Amino acid sequence: MSKRRPLVAGNWKMHGVKASVAEFGRIAEGYDAGLKAKVDLLICPPATLMSTLAVVALGTRIGIGGQDCHAKPSGAYTGDIAAEMIADTGATAVILGHSERRADHGETDAMARAKVLAAWRAGLVAILCVGETHAERDEFRALDVVRTQLAGSLPDGATAANVVIAYEPVWAIGTGRTPTIDDIAEMHGVLREELIARFGDEGAGMRLLYGGSVKPENAGEILHVPNVDGALVGGASLKAESFIAIARAY
Ligand code: PEP
Repeated sequence: MSKRRPLVAGNWKMHGVKASVAEFGRIAEGYDAGLKAKVDLLICPPATLMSTLAVVALGTRIGIGGQDCHAKPSGAYTGDIAAEMIADTGATAVILGHSERRADHGETDAMARAKVLAAWRAGLVAILCVGETHAERDEFRALDVVRTQLAGSLPDGATAANVVIAYEPVWAIGTGRTPTIDDIAEMHGVLREELIARFGDEGAGMRLLYGGSVKPENAGEILHVPNVDGALVGGASLKAESFIAIARAY
């Protein structure tokens, strides 16, 4: 099996103002040599902070990412941001297909797919989110739903270098609830099978993150599940202490 370097990514969502640069500084301080040897870190701040943090992050080996992008490179799309603009800030990745985008902005698999292609066009790593609702899990449809999302939103041309998949059960995001360890293992195993079936060795090398209420107390257990190659962290990424504690679970 290909060697996959763990990634702990923070999604700051719509949190953070100029004063939050100090919190980023504390994350950088906590990312010591021991941690750097083991795990990659990425922070996805709101768009207003991307340029600033991309500069502050120089030399820290912490990546900066966006939280969404438009599929087109430019045009009359008020309020939107092109993947090229994200790359222009110095950021290297972008979260796409997050369940909050799917629920609040009607994003479909086809739209997420177009955005992944845009990310690649701009040279960004796409962090593609998939995950079932609670009703879908209750109806024993979680595996099928996630398989369908993956097939519909991940284009041909995906490689271990240009994409990261984040499994984020919608009902676990920001709720303090998490699936059982067995359920996480099952879903990540299925995702790995799908990726290998479609992309061969590249699929074996793609990083699969778990996201949904990851915190220091549960990180040790979750991050050691087979085929879990890191975490996408929302709330607990806003404080250096908890974000670094999660990364230290490795
Ligand atoms: C997220 O929004 O991607 C997320 C995982 O949030 P939280 O960690 O707060 O559940």
